[in-house]
Amino acid sequence: MVKNIAVIRGDGIGPEIVEQALRVLDRVAELYGHTFRYTDVAMGGCAIDAYGDPLPEAELKKCVESDSVLLGAVGGEKWNDVPGHMRPEKGLLRLRAGMGVYSNNRPAKIWPQLAEASPLKPSIVAQGIDFIIVRELIGGIYFGEHKTVGDTATDVLQYSESEIERIGRIGFETARKRSRRLCSVEKSNVLDSSRLWKKVMCRLAEEYPDVALSHMLVDNCAMQIVKNPAQFDVIVTENMFGDILSDEASMITGSIGMIPSSSLGASTCGLYEPIHGSAPDIAGKDLANPIGTILSAAMMLRYSFDLPAEADAIERAVSDYLDEGCRTADIMSEGMQQIGCKECGDHILRHLRRECCT
Ligand code: NAD
Repeated sequence: MVKNIAVIRGDGIGPEIVEQALRVLDRVAELYGHTFRYTDVAMGGCAIDAYGDPLPEAELKKCVESDSVLLGAVGGEKWNDVPGHMRPEKGLLRLRAGMGVYSNNRPAKIWPQLAEASPLKPSIVAQGIDFIIVRELIGGIYFGEHKTVGDTATDVLQYSESEIERIGRIGFETARKRSRRLCSVEKSNVLDSSRLWKKVMCRLAEEYPDVALSHMLVDNCAMQIVKNPAQFDVIVTENMFGDILSDEASMITGSIGMIPSSSLGASTCGLYEPIHGSAPDIAGKDLANPIGTILSAAMMLRYSFDLPAEADAIERAVSDYLDEGCRTADIMSEGMQQIGCKECGDHILRHLRRECCT
């Protein structure tokens, strides 16, 4: 199989973590006889420096024309004072909208080897943490009008029924492939957009009688994720709530550095990225955990390229590495040896193999 992958290294730790994911993809290509061609795309602070624009049209075009996009992270203090429409994160929002990837899938799963890294009580962790947050990605308050007039600032939160319906369907379909339980999260006691959200979800539920739909207010959900995460299987929610809840969910699994994500729209061309940011505090120090990015590459193979055996091989290599006695700083525990980002990549590569039955 030959695939063209647009690669956005971005800012901060972006280049370091993407490098490890590309090494893993190259090894998969070698083991399974594929060809992955990479096209570098400038986005974020580095694109502002080079072109005065966080995502020039020509760079977006490279992404839209690729088979899928692998992204590290963008942003950093250096660009904090640039005008709002020029910020690195604007490039990311423009990329998601330009690719039409409205459905962001963020798994929150605890690896048994990292149970100790979770800040939750062992008795809660023992009940299991394995759920998915399906987040609407190209609507809501991040895409509404933003303006500041005098001493007053406004951000518009708007959703149409069709926007809610298409992400709602992804929620139901995802639940169908798992335990057939779907929790819709909103703030319908206060927000009109949430009341519409709930109404559309209830209507869709009639088409999915095999899925048990429940509703939860977002503030309660934030609490339940730390109190009793085992109750969740699939959560579907709007853009900003999903952003915040998925960061919370990542922490209870040990480290934000471990969590991958996929974003898909109507085609198989997806955007794959770890859920964390550019971590400027550790950038360039070989301290970053590359696993979220490596697992994002595995998701790309599974969901966009339909290569489940290759994705399994990467996930198995990560698990085998976690069985060893070394860890990056973010998931260190007593008695373990601390290693850096590149060495973590070396270990995962060493474990990567083609199983005879796949
Ligand atoms: P962050 O996710 O970058 O970092 C939060 C904390 O987690 C930091 O202490 C960091 O060191 C740690 N961390 C993150 N990723 C890690 C990894 N792979 N390994 C080990 N530790 C890791 O969030 P932030 O500090 O709020 O934001 C920093 C910059 O990133 C900001 O400019 C922000 O706008 C941007 N950002 C970008 C994205 C993206 O590109 N998708 C997402 C979120 C934030």
